[in-house]
Amino acid sequence: MLFDLHTHHDRCGHAVGKIEDYIQSAVEKGLHYIAISDHSPFFFSDEDQLHPRIAMAKSELASYVGEVLTLKEKYKDKIHVLLSLESDYFPEHEDIYRQNIAKHPFDFVIGSVHWVNDVSIFKKGRWDGLHEADRIRNKEDYYKLIQASAKSGIFQVLGHIDAMKGFYPEFTQIETPIIDETLKVISSEGVSIEVNTSGKTKDCGGWYPSNEILERALHFGVDISFGSDSHVPDRIGDDYLDVQKTLKEIGFREMVYYVEKKRQVVLL
Ligand SMILES: [Zn+2]
Ligand SMILES: [Zn+2]
Repeated sequence: MLFDLHTHHDRCGHAVGKIEDYIQSAVEKGLHYIAISDHSPFFFSDEDQLHPRIAMAKSELASYVGEVLTLKEKYKDKIHVLLSLESDYFPEHEDIYRQNIAKHPFDFVIGSVHWVNDVSIFKKGRWDGLHEADRIRNKEDYYKLIQASAKSGIFQVLGHIDAMKGFYPEFTQIETPIIDETLKVISSEGVSIEVNTSGKTKDCGGWYPSNEILERALHFGVDISFGSDSHVPDRIGDDYLDVQKTLKEIGFREMVYYVEKKRQVVLL
């Protein structure tokens, strides 16, 4: 069973190709399920499209949903197309996100923390000149937001839970007990984390999260899903078989995906 739960397309302003290009790539690669999960609009903003290179306009969401549902029907004999969204998480705007997400029939929603203390997690230079105590505080602020996102009840999957290492590989070495604490919260909330293979497109290389975090996730009984986080159609399903193999070696017996918010289990 092959699936990819995390994909983008040109609506967000920084991915290439139309939704259908991603579905066709998934069909060619023999996937059984593909989720379309573009970046959520900035629902809290007065502007229709706050950051045109980061996420779709608020006014685009309805056409996005309509297009995915149309393609789901068109391709139903070839592949299962799931409707999703990679939503930002801002604790101060939780209600407005919850209300907007509830308006559409998403199969599941990925909750991703992309902003910590109002700065993008990927911003090069955000770590410059920070002393050890500040580095620890930044990392812990990131994981506190991930814990809050898990508790919000809005999301079924948490996106790339160590993506802060993307352009700062040293992030992994910052010592703090907060990762275990976060995995415990994720497990008790019954949400999953994804193995996201797009780390290879950033300075850190490899996948999100690290194998060390996956080992701890197994220990705490956290469910694992998969997403390529494709921003080009060619990356659909990228490294899926390697991910399955690695998860098995670590000791996982299953992976999960979601249809109409219901957890589905795939045995490894
Ligand atoms: Zn993106
Ligand atoms: Zn993301």
